[in-house]
Amino acid sequence: MNPTDAPIAMAAPLARRSRQARIVWGSNVVTVGGDAPVRVQSMTNTDTVDAIATAIQVKELAQAGSEFVRITVNTPEAAAAVPYIREQLDRMGCDVPLVGDFHYNGHRLLTEFPDCAQALSKYRINPGNVGKGDKRDRQFGQMIEAAVRWDKAVRIGVNWGSLDQELLAGLMDVNGRRSQPWDARQVMYEALITSAIESARRAEEMGLHGEQIILSCKVSGVQDLIAVYRELARRCDYALHLGLTEAGMGTKGVVASATALSILLQEGIGDTIRVSLTPQPGEARTQEVVVAAEILQSLGLRAFVPSVTACPGCGRTTSTTFQELAKQIDDYLRAQMPVWRERYPGVEKLKVAVMGCIVNGPGESKHADIGISLPGTGEAPAAPVFIDGEKAMTLRGENIVREFQDIVDGYIDKRFGLGA
Ligand code: SF4
Repeated sequence: MNPTDAPIAMAAPLARRSRQARIVWGSNVVTVGGDAPVRVQSMTNTDTVDAIATAIQVKELAQAGSEFVRITVNTPEAAAAVPYIREQLDRMGCDVPLVGDFHYNGHRLLTEFPDCAQALSKYRINPGNVGKGDKRDRQFGQMIEAAVRWDKAVRIGVNWGSLDQELLAGLMDVNGRRSQPWDARQVMYEALITSAIESARRAEEMGLHGEQIILSCKVSGVQDLIAVYRELARRCDYALHLGLTEAGMGTKGVVASATALSILLQEGIGDTIRVSLTPQPGEARTQEVVVAAEILQSLGLRAFVPSVTACPGCGRTTSTTFQELAKQIDDYLRAQMPVWRERYPGVEKLKVAVMGCIVNGPGESKHADIGISLPGTGEAPAAPVFIDGEKAMTLRGENIVREFQDIVDGYIDKRFGLGA
């Protein structure tokens, strides 16, 4: 043993000073950047023209924890549907701000459909897709004019799949004249960042407040994203939208997103995140919100739902009881959150432990607010329950799951309810 006098430093995310954007609908003001918590956002995959289906999905995403929701606005019909989507949401009591995603024709849609421009709370503009040649600046300007007129926030969202080809070609030429040319990938990084920052500066020159600008430079490789965002954060103080584009499906998409976003968030980079998962057949769209929230919660940046600590199980517990209990408790806590958020303020910080045997069960359960240590193979058929670090009772028999759920309910009501 080699103890030192100094305590081991605790790990914590760094802070980056960024400007703060306001995304507003009615009395709901969602701040992004500055001292705001890192925000979760998501995007629908319904046809925007189908106003009812889109409003329903927006509400589901909002209930899952998305603090604003993006919808594609790609045609005149879609632009015409936006005010109806907003109306439906307002009728359902869902005041989540809507973000319009524009490519190619956003300048026309925002000009010709003023009700759409007003119903949206933020516009996403892709500088690579606003037009070519001399049309580019004019059409970009029309979109910024709409944002200024209706007092909306804007995300200038560059994507390596739709990078401004003229800008890239110009940087390639410059690179070709270098005595030691950069790697083509480094030129691409430069093009992404230059496109975002120059577009933001142009928008400011046209009268948009810098506070109302959020930047993103999305790529699909983890190391590329880290390189680009570190430099983007170094070069500007705009609020940053962080996400790995086209992250993919299932475990691959979740792991790649969590890896890239966690490294940057720990460095204080990223004011709002989106996890771009390809849904598996039959998978809910809300999965991308669940993953985004879990990333923030795992890093200790936000709390969205009570956390359930569960051991992986091993040869000491051959029954599946503890797996079922962990899943049921986790599902139950998530399902209750839309109601509990109002009724039990602070409940999202609750920690529950469900453990498989006596080796780590009692210890881990004592670290949680409420924990249960199930009997492993060969252990006495009894499950001690720990509340606030103390053994409170022992459950036995067939109804352990039901009884533990009741104990959790009672604890939440006592600790977070009105009478608490
Ligand atoms: S708590 Fe018990 S069952 Fe769970 S992993 Fe550890 S030893 Fe295995």
